[in-house]
Amino acid sequence: MSELAYKRTNVYETADEKLMKSIFEYAEGYKVFLDNGKTEREACAFAKAMAEKNGYKPFKFGQKLKKGDKVYYDNRGKNIYLIKVGNGDIEKDGIRIIASHIDSPRIDLKQVPLYESDGIALAKTHYYGGIRKYQWTTIPLALHGAVALKDGSVLNVTIGEDEADPVFYISDLLPHLAQKQNAKTLGEAIEGEGLNIWFGNIPYTVTENEKDKTVKENVLHILHDKYGMVEADFLSAELSLVPAYKAKDIGFDRALIGAYGHDDRVCSYPAFTALFDEKSDERTVMVVLADKEEIGSEGTTGMQCAIFTDLIDALACSFGTTSSAIRANSKCLSADVNAAYDPNFAEVLEKQNATYLSCGAGVTKFTGARGKSGSSDADAEYVGFLRKLFDENGVIWQTGELGKVDIGGGGTVAKYIAKMNIDTIDIGVGVISMHAPYEVISKADLYEEYLAFRAFIK
Ligand code: MN
Ligand code: MN
Repeated sequence: MSELAYKRTNVYETADEKLMKSIFEYAEGYKVFLDNGKTEREACAFAKAMAEKNGYKPFKFGQKLKKGDKVYYDNRGKNIYLIKVGNGDIEKDGIRIIASHIDSPRIDLKQVPLYESDGIALAKTHYYGGIRKYQWTTIPLALHGAVALKDGSVLNVTIGEDEADPVFYISDLLPHLAQKQNAKTLGEAIEGEGLNIWFGNIPYTVTENEKDKTVKENVLHILHDKYGMVEADFLSAELSLVPAYKAKDIGFDRALIGAYGHDDRVCSYPAFTALFDEKSDERTVMVVLADKEEIGSEGTTGMQCAIFTDLIDALACSFGTTSSAIRANSKCLSADVNAAYDPNFAEVLEKQNATYLSCGAGVTKFTGARGKSGSSDADAEYVGFLRKLFDENGVIWQTGELGKVDIGGGGTVAKYIAKMNIDTIDIGVGVISMHAPYEVISKADLYEEYLAFRAFIK
């Protein structure tokens, strides 16, 4: 191929010893984050603790900010905004924003979950985000979340992560009896109301009367003895089943990482570590770790909440300018994952425009489906700006579209930020088996994403 042609760069193919060492070292910190931040609450707490260690102080609305301030806004423990106020001119330079999300697809308990059927104690669920239901059966699941008790206290729950903990389970048919199920489509074989969690099997004796022996009652007693809970406490709880697996290196060469929830922790971790590691103090930088992206960025903790623009207003008030002036000059990277090219399923990806594993951070100009519908589609000028920035800073990046035209599609937080008159584009890491209980990414892409963020906020 001549010099005139465009070609992706494979990071592992071109990396020197020093870069390889950096890639592998950085991945170790990421794996710690993965294992300790499986829900938005845990990821938020992790980022907050790191922010405090790096000198960030809690921000309260009404507070005036000044140059050099480092603050965070903890939104209900599920969404966090990290802001470093630069020494430069915020009106002229705007804010450099990196927005990623910390919620991932999972199985949520319903508000009245417990029941028993034929001697088995089970729990009803409603899944969260886009999952392929059959993938969530017959795997170890851990219970994570929070229970708001009647006395106003909140009980934080994590069961199934410690080696000594029990785990939970959704059953599937044995092949011997699956003839009918095998004839169904993958989408129909396991139904939403079939995702019932196995909670127990030992009956509790309420009275001497045999028919009062119930396994549900026994579970209620365990919950009461261990956690002081009664059944009605589930009414005010957010409890989720997530895969109980730990993050592990994949393959003989350890180039890849398998884990639950790469989408979108693989962009969140580079976002806040880039902020903490970058010592230049000219620019004002905002890192957003959003909740609810997987269900449309709605609600008080989603990217569509007014808190985002309220914080920009707070900055504008502090420096005697307007939010509109700051936003007009701001730039945003919507940091979210893309589908990586998978040779096992090559038919859904268009080879020339797919994101490839280990070929660097994937820039996605537009998302959407059926004629780019629902996408904010970034300007060529903004892509040009980033192209120059990344190339000058030695960041290895590629371009990638989510699948072939009319095969499917998806969206990110990008359009909600672009709507605020802020130049926004998606940039993320390619993921294999996205939204599955165990997803795969490349350590090289994770590190290039980090380098891209460092260049963006410098
Ligand atoms: Mn995502
Ligand atoms: Mn997703």
